[in-house]
Amino acid sequence: MLEIKDLHVCVEEDGTEILKGVNLTINEGEVHAIMGPNGSGKSTLSKVVAGHEAYEVTQGDILFEGESILELEADERAHLGLFLAFQYPVEVPGVTNKNLLRQAYNTIAQEQGREELDPLQFEDYAKEKLDLIKMKPEFIERSVNAGFSGGEKKRNEIFQMAVLDPKISFLDETDSGLDIDALKTVANGINQIADDDNAVVMVTHYQRILDYITPDHVHVMIDGEIAKSGDKDLAIKLEEQGYDWLIEPATASV
Ligand code: ADP
Ligand code: MG
Ligand code: MG
Repeated sequence: MLEIKDLHVCVEEDGTEILKGVNLTINEGEVHAIMGPNGSGKSTLSKVVAGHEAYEVTQGDILFEGESILELEADERAHLGLFLAFQYPVEVPGVTNKNLLRQAYNTIAQEQGREELDPLQFEDYAKEKLDLIKMKPEFIERSVNAGFSGGEKKRNEIFQMAVLDPKISFLDETDSGLDIDALKTVANGINQIADDDNAVVMVTHYQRILDYITPDHVHVMIDGEIAKSGDKDLAIKLEEQGYDWLIEPATASV
């Protein structure tokens, strides 16, 4: 579904290279975790896939369903079915969650030849999805993110994902700042959304959300490259041993 090939990325402004040849293939039905130390390039990778303007791809390609998306704008990528959780976390006072999401939903539906929903139909649809993450119906009437707590913002991201039903979702640090109950709720929501015809990429510094979501593939990003890939056991090893053994193999504990 998504194929990242030898991706090199610089900061547009000053030309600093951040991603130094990333290769990654994500198929439908898979859950991937991208882990790694702070500053290794995890968020940059998510943003570049989303089409963030601050970055320039200097080498390599990103293919979505076999076609390069490098020339597409962020919204065009979203219409294809790519979802990046941080695309909508800004506060939009005066615009309700419901209206923003219905607009996004209908734009994507139109693009993909699906039926658009009128306000009442959308409300019913959205309420079903609210259940997934145990949020109250009033939540969709509030202005987007205005005054949301950290936990509510994270839940809202998963709610948006549930509503938009993307083909592939990148969730960047969705677990950070959540207490244990919120973490379980969010993880449970993600587990219910993940199915055979979509893919989820969890970008996370910590292993803890992986106690509740079992990834099919775990990758460690170090200094702009995928230094190691494995299965869930790799996440457990990282939890026990940290990242040092990958950064300085000579001093790794066995
Ligand atoms: P991670 O998410 O793994 O913690 P990031 O992708 O956020 O890492 O950042 C990787 C490196 O790239 C960091 O050193 C960061 O400061 C730098 N970086 C990312 N985006 C920019 C930017 N827009 N301008 C300058 N430096 C950036
Ligand atoms: Mg980050
Ligand atoms: Mg689906």
